[in-house]
Amino acid sequence: MDIVKESVQTIKGIGPKKARLLGKVGVYTLQDAIDYFPRDYEIHPGVTDIVDIRKGEFVSLSVKFQGRPQVLRKHKNMSILRWTAKDDTGSIVCVWFNQPYRANQYKVGVPYYIYGKAEFSYGGIQIHNPLVKEYVREIHNQCQIIPVYSLVEGLTQKDFKNLIGQALNRTEKGIEDELPSIVRERFKLADKGYSLYNIHFPKHQQALEWSRRRLVFEELFSIQMALYAIKEKFGTDNQGLIFQWDNKKMDKFIKDLPFALTGAQKRVVGEILEDLRKETPMNRLVYGDVGSGKTIVAAIALYAAVMAGYQGVLMAPTEILARQHYETLKTLLEGCGIHISLLIGGMDNKTKDQIKDNLSQGVVDVIIATHAVLQEDVQFNNLGLVITDEQHRFGVRQRATIAQKGNNDPHMLVMSATPIPRTLALIFYGDLDISLIDELPPGRKPVKTYHVPASMRNRIYGFIRKQTMLGYQTYMVCPLIEESDKIAVQSAVELYDELSSGPLKGLRLGLLHGKMNPEEKSCVMKKFEEGDIDVLISTTVIEVGVNVANANLMIIENADRFGLGQLHQLRGRVGRSNSQAYCILIADTKSSKAKERMDIMVRSNNGFEISQKDLELRGPGEFLGVRQHGLPEFKIANLIRDMDILKEVQTAAQWILELRDTGLKNSILEKAYNKFSHKLEEITLN
Ligand code: ADP
Ligand code: MG
Repeated sequence: MDIVKESVQTIKGIGPKKARLLGKVGVYTLQDAIDYFPRDYEIHPGVTDIVDIRKGEFVSLSVKFQGRPQVLRKHKNMSILRWTAKDDTGSIVCVWFNQPYRANQYKVGVPYYIYGKAEFSYGGIQIHNPLVKEYVREIHNQCQIIPVYSLVEGLTQKDFKNLIGQALNRTEKGIEDELPSIVRERFKLADKGYSLYNIHFPKHQQALEWSRRRLVFEELFSIQMALYAIKEKFGTDNQGLIFQWDNKKMDKFIKDLPFALTGAQKRVVGEILEDLRKETPMNRLVYGDVGSGKTIVAAIALYAAVMAGYQGVLMAPTEILARQHYETLKTLLEGCGIHISLLIGGMDNKTKDQIKDNLSQGVVDVIIATHAVLQEDVQFNNLGLVITDEQHRFGVRQRATIAQKGNNDPHMLVMSATPIPRTLALIFYGDLDISLIDELPPGRKPVKTYHVPASMRNRIYGFIRKQTMLGYQTYMVCPLIEESDKIAVQSAVELYDELSSGPLKGLRLGLLHGKMNPEEKSCVMKKFEEGDIDVLISTTVIEVGVNVANANLMIIENADRFGLGQLHQLRGRVGRSNSQAYCILIADTKSSKAKERMDIMVRSNNGFEISQKDLELRGPGEFLGVRQHGLPEFKIANLIRDMDILKEVQTAAQWILELRDTGLKNSILEKAYNKFSHKLEEITLN
């Protein structure tokens, strides 16, 4: 067996109990242990004399303990241990809380190395909970860099250091260098073994920097190559399609729309139409904040495609959204003699088969669909344009799959309201063009947002009644649909029952959640759209795209449980007409971070700003983490900080793609693909 695949239990000091704890952080094998990179580092400076200590600084000292340690018992559960230590220049007091055993751990008169923060109190210098090690001469003048690992309860820093140190020694020869040597040479990257050793036990600052750069490079390079591999595997090499259409008809179509396009919409439409006339396939992202009017831009592009004699597909992430787009586009496009259909998973097989036949024979010009359209048996007659709405819900592989259904490389357009960090856009799209709809339709007022405690519930219900009397509709969003023992989140079902028989009795309430079948869902949505429901109680299934202009009150329960991006999306369901809209965030939160997040929502209506703040508050790890957003968890790369390395990685990846030695190129692509394909399938952007 590969040595790196051996269980952590083969390491001295790791038994079944510790192994189980390690499992909690995903560390099962020696490889996992080695890849468990430090969360941070403590810099221990060279040893100082006590007389030179300055207030508040972290110091390393070489001292001997003096006299007897003093143990104070404050309460039953609290003990304080004080012990004086000296060097030739002065003395300090070491203070330990709840660690009485320290008194037996160290000997008087023996030199120790101690490290900690120097506090000045009671007229002397104290170090609380210092680190104490046996003194060895070598460390005297040397600055030490100590790794700090993220811990799980029951394991200590020492456990990790022991485990990783031994794992490194054992596997020294067994670790494969994933970077091709030509890349390593050209980009002057440190050796793998050296880097792994120094990321955990840095010899000095420079060694740490070299090692980190190399490991980040490797991680990003592998992912980048895997993404290229997918494009090569699933993409087509065919040329793009030049669309031609009747300009007069296009002008008339735009003129006959129910409203005039905003300046931003006009500009973006212009950019898209120009792309469609070119031979190079379009690869464009339209970013526009919620409510900026992206759907109409899609409709115009689809109209151009059909006039040019091609089929178009618009993919939506949810059935609700697909249906809604279908209704909207039908009214816009059917008048022009365009045959438009809907294809979603919830349809019966007979209808589906009929639609598939129509698609493959070219009877259908435009199809609005969910993931159902990705299935193998869905074939087009001549697919020319692929639009994905709220693109972050679609994976890289999925986009490639749909592109492949065209005879040639179809033009690709992705529409999103979620700004993604530039770094990510670079990884995932490479040379993607970006269009910005940076203007809302005229007359839109910013949604008035309030953060309130749950104790204001009755006033909120009063407000709902008032809005209903004025003829407006309300959304109420709850995070989960079922009771969870762990987190007491009010369920939509429960809330619905409670409200309909209690505070909101007499109003027409509707319930919508993910466990309902598609017909039930669309029936409820239809009723809401037609104004037959006053208050729609729902889970986040309404999060993306839903457009009911008459709804102008959004109430979000347990708002602190949502990400800021999600809250912004939810809030974007209201404020879609010229009436003043409101968003009420119900959250009883004591955590200052959560409060700050609510404050941002109250202050800002700008998606870009909100996403930037989100990033700052949560940190890139969580912001980009797999849990929330479907991205691979990066082991070491930090997409915000490592922009420079990423640029180098892209140069390297590009260079590999252009290699004359196709054997080498293909083997690199193949390797990356095999390593990541299972993960990439799941990757989505958000
Ligand atoms: P999003 O960008 O969030 O997808 P939509 O395309 O759903 O936004 O548009 C939001 C609402 O604004 C829709 O009701 C749409 O009809 C309307 N709308 C779009 N563009 C304009 C415009 N130029 N003038 C007035 N209303 C518009
Ligand atoms: Mg939309």
